[in-house]
Amino acid sequence: MRIDIITIFPKMFAPVLNESIMLRAQDKGKVKFHIHDLRDYTSDKHRKVDDRPFGGGSGMLMQPEPIFKAVEHIKSKIKGKKSKVILLCPQGEKLTQKIAKNISKEKHIILICGHYEGVDERVREKLVDEEISIGDYVLTGGELAAMVLVDSVVRLLPGVLGDKNSLNFESFEGNLLEHPHYTRPANFRKMSVPEVLLSGDHKKIEAWRNKEALKRTRARRPDLLKSNVRKEN
Ligand code: SAM
Repeated sequence: MRIDIITIFPKMFAPVLNESIMLRAQDKGKVKFHIHDLRDYTSDKHRKVDDRPFGGGSGMLMQPEPIFKAVEHIKSKIKGKKSKVILLCPQGEKLTQKIAKNISKEKHIILICGHYEGVDERVREKLVDEEISIGDYVLTGGELAAMVLVDSVVRLLPGVLGDKNSLNFESFEGNLLEHPHYTRPANFRKMSVPEVLLSGDHKKIEAWRNKEALKRTRARRPDLLKSNVRKEN
């Protein structure tokens, strides 16, 4: 997968994308990141990317021209391959595991990070295929949102995680939250691990985990259970 990110803060990305699983995914050749400084697509000597909104009001808006130029430049480089252009935006569709899975099937995505009061509406109308929000709150810019989206997508690419089972048994699979986990020591400050997990009986352990996953989902996210597909044991 190729991921191009358009931003006015290109330096924000390396500390996140060049660590841990994101770094490993690049090393394994599963993903290639290209970070573009939006100011490289301006034509004035101040490298200006924003201006005042027509009609008045507070704040500045990102102008359409540099964003259009950046996207057109990137598309011209990947010649003929299908690209999905995504604007990070608090007004977009809220990011879920299902959306991350769908995006992970794309070969090429272009992410646009907004700033200030956001982007000129014509970017939305003519350039963008999808708008994604990472939650009902307003960030100062789209960079952190882009990194959240990238992380949620790249870990789903085949071969990125060492143990592919970890994707099958995690929260939101089968519309459930994951069951509780314990590790050593079996007794810690008078708190002991449930007996069944020490029994070595894999059938019983699986039944316990399913039951706990359901209990936890019911308590914390009953909305997920409306279309539950895993059976209670
Ligand atoms: N004036 C806009 C509004 O009220 O909808 C908010 C603009 S916000 C200060 C600046 C930029 O941060 C946005 O263009 C977007 O790229 C990014 N952003 C802010 N909150 C976000 C969220 N929840 N999800 C994704 N991107 C977000």
